[in-house]
Amino acid sequence: MQTQILPVNARSLALAKEILLAGGLVAFHTETVYGLGADARNDEAVRSVFAVKGRPADNPLIAHVHPDYDISRIVDGEPPYAAALRRAFLPGPLTMVYPSKGKVSRFVSCGLDTLSVRVPASPAAQAFLRAADIPVVAPSANLSKHVSPVTAQHVYDDFAGKIPLILDGGRCEGGIESTVLDCTGPVPQILRAGLVTREMIAAVAGDCGVYHMKEGEKPKSPGMAYKHYSPRCRTALFAAEEGALAEYAREEASGGTPYLLCTEQTARRHPGLRVLSLGETPEEMAANLYARLREGERCATELVAVLPEARGGVMDGVLNRLTRACGGTVNET
Ligand code: AMP
Ligand code: MG
Repeated sequence: MQTQILPVNARSLALAKEILLAGGLVAFHTETVYGLGADARNDEAVRSVFAVKGRPADNPLIAHVHPDYDISRIVDGEPPYAAALRRAFLPGPLTMVYPSKGKVSRFVSCGLDTLSVRVPASPAAQAFLRAADIPVVAPSANLSKHVSPVTAQHVYDDFAGKIPLILDGGRCEGGIESTVLDCTGPVPQILRAGLVTREMIAAVAGDCGVYHMKEGEKPKSPGMAYKHYSPRCRTALFAAEEGALAEYAREEASGGTPYLLCTEQTARRHPGLRVLSLGETPEEMAANLYARLREGERCATELVAVLPEARGGVMDGVLNRLTRACGGTVNET
């Protein structure tokens, strides 16, 4: 199969709609990361999303709709706080989990009785969703476990020859996946941290919990249980700079090509080292993280990461992705 990368215009949108309605896959830009879209109502199309990505069959998908789509067609009621959150943050990088009406393929929710819904802010995503005018399921457009894509080229690198069309909307400025928020209980609960932060949600909803999986429990958001965001090179994450510098030196002494992955502030202190800078602010770090991880896997034998110091807000999402990309553990020394 030829994989076309096309700019978003009337011709490419008509082609995208044709592919979707025939059960095919179309990758598209959003403000977070690129999505791999399929017709949410079509069992075979939804199953092919799992097959092409190598995605575990129990990790549910998010349904994407345009801003004028009436979500009561697919979800079964919402608490007042959820309506307030929609007015405050949508369109935008917030995915809301609702009781499902069962109107989309049963393969979307993987046996859960909930459906997650997102209304992207990206004009390219909205043009695509308006042209299709159906709920489009879309996980991130990367092979399962690999780093999420923030450019059309990243999508191409993972899926060339496997999908017919990538709609190129430029670089994704947000950089990390949407916040996933459980809206089925009395208080909203964050299942995955993202650019819409706990603080922002609590300011509108009055309160906001954060879900932590307990040992032995069936995860509320199955995606959280998986290895994720991993670059194809060795990685090590250090709580402090000293440990990272020692690891960098060890890797270099053994003939490897280490790169330091760190904030711009840390990078400035080490002009003599090979460095991939995440930037200065939490928003810059979110926007740069995946591109730096993909650069790192191309040029480094080992990515040696230094945990940024900032906490809270957008950093919740950044640190969650960075830690998981580095195998889930932080070396204290
Ligand atoms: P992605 O693979 O980037 O599309 O991420 C989608 C995330 O949303 C995964 O962590 C899923 O587990 C989560 N998710 C999707 N649908 C639901 C749902 N109905 N309930 C809980 N989590 C969900
Ligand atoms: Mg993903």
